[in-house]
Amino acid sequence: MQCGLLGRKLGHSYSPQIHSALGEYDYALFQKEPNQLADFLKNGSYHGLNVTIPYKKDVIPYCDELSPIAKKLGAVNTLVRKGEKLIGHNTDYFGFQTMVKYSGLEITGKKVLVLGSGGASATVVAVLQAMGACPIIISRTGDNHYGNLHNHADASVIVNATPVGMYPNNEESPIDLSRFPDLQGVLDLIYNPARTKLLQAAEKRNIVAMNGLLMLVAQAKESTEWFTGKTIPDELIFHIYNALRFQMENIILVGMPGCGKTTIGNLLAQKTGRPFFDADAEIVRFAGKTIPEIFSESDESGFREIETKVLADLCKGSGRIISTGGGCVTVPQNYPLLHQNGRIFWIQRDISLLPTEGRPLSQINSLEAMYEVRRPLYSAFSDESVKNDGTPEMVANRILSIITEDIKI
Ligand code: NAP
Repeated sequence: MQCGLLGRKLGHSYSPQIHSALGEYDYALFQKEPNQLADFLKNGSYHGLNVTIPYKKDVIPYCDELSPIAKKLGAVNTLVRKGEKLIGHNTDYFGFQTMVKYSGLEITGKKVLVLGSGGASATVVAVLQAMGACPIIISRTGDNHYGNLHNHADASVIVNATPVGMYPNNEESPIDLSRFPDLQGVLDLIYNPARTKLLQAAEKRNIVAMNGLLMLVAQAKESTEWFTGKTIPDELIFHIYNALRFQMENIILVGMPGCGKTTIGNLLAQKTGRPFFDADAEIVRFAGKTIPEIFSESDESGFREIETKVLADLCKGSGRIISTGGGCVTVPQNYPLLHQNGRIFWIQRDISLLPTEGRPLSQINSLEAMYEVRRPLYSAFSDESVKNDGTPEMVANRILSIITEDIKI
C-alpha cells in the first residue's frame, strides 16, 4: 500500500519515521507545485495521503466526501482512496485534542488565547470550544490583536498557532507572558525547537509548557487508522512520542575544564550513533584561530561573544552530543540556547584531577577559586549532575540511563 505526505516544500519531515512505526505501508514524500496538484490527486498512485502546508484547503474540491470535522473546519489533512472515491478527513483535530488532554490543563470555562488565525488556529478553536473553553483568536489584523492584549490579561492558557519561534527563527517569541498573571499554561504547536522561547518563558513561571510533538504523532495515528481501517491503541502514540523526544534531544555536557566532557561526549556519540560537537573546536573553526590566540587578541569577553554565537548555531540542531567550554555557564544568555533542544549534564570531577595545560583561564586563575564561582552556575544550568569518578564509559552509560528512564523509552 502506498501512502505519503503531500506538500509544497517538505524539507526534513518526521512523518515517514512516525508512519513506519504505525503501519505496514510505504510512506513517501510527495513534494508538488500548485500546478501539479490536480494531476497528482487524480492520477497519482497512492492509497492514502497526509496533506500539509499549503494544500489543506486546496485538496477539498477533489474530495468526493468529507468527514464532518473536515467539513466543519474547511481543511483536510488526510486523504483516503475508497474505490473510485477520494475521502477527506481532518486528524489535526484529534491531534490537538490529545495534546490538551495530556497537558493536564483544566480549560472548561477558561479564557484561552489562540495566537494566529491560520488553518491550525481554526482546528485549535474548534477543539477548545468542544471542550468547553472560551477561545479568543489573537490576530495581527483582527479585533483582538497584539496591541490590545490588556483586554485579555485574565487569560488562563495561551496556544501558539503561529510559526513565530520555529526553527530557524528560534530567538523569536510571539508574546510577552508577563502580561498574564493568571496564566496556567502554554501550548505551542511548534516542536522544533522542543522548547521555544515562549515555552521557556512558561517554564520559568513554573506553569504547564508543552510543545506540538504529541499533536504531530496523534494526528498521524488517526491518519493510519483511516489508511488501514484498523484501530490502533493510543499507547502507541506515547511510545512513538517518547522515542522521538529521545531521538531529538541534544545531550549537552557542562563542567570544569578538563573534567572529561570531550571523552565522555565521544563515547556517547559512539554509543548512540549521534554526531558529536565540541564547542571549543567549533569556536576555533568559526574564528580561524586557536583559543589561546583568541584570548591573547581580545579579553575573555571577546571569547565569550564568539562562544555565544557558536552555541546559538550548534544548539539549534537536534539529536546531537555537545560538549561545552568550561566557562559557558558564566554567560546567562547561553542557558536558553543550550536548553531549547537539550538535556544538560554537569560532569563533576575532583579538582585535584583537572589538567591545566593549553587552558588559558585554568592557568591564570586558581582552579579552586574558579570552581567556587562556577559551582552554583553549573548547578543552575544543569538538569542532572554525574560524577566522573570511575571510567568515562561508566559516566556515558549513567547519562544514557538517566535520559531513557526519564523519557520512558
Ligand atoms: P499558517 O496557516 O501559515 O498560519 C499561521 C498564522 O500565524 C497566520 O495566519 C498568522 O495569523 C500568524 N502569523 C504568521 N506569521 C506571523 C508572524 N510573523 N507574526 C505573528 N503572527 C504570524 O500556518 P498553520 O498551518 O496554521 O500552522 C501554524 C503553526 O502550527 C506552524 O508553526 C505549524 O508548524 C504548526 N502546526 C503544528 C502541527 C502539529 O502537529 N504539531 C499541526 C499543524 C500546524 P494572523 O495573520 O492572523 O496574525
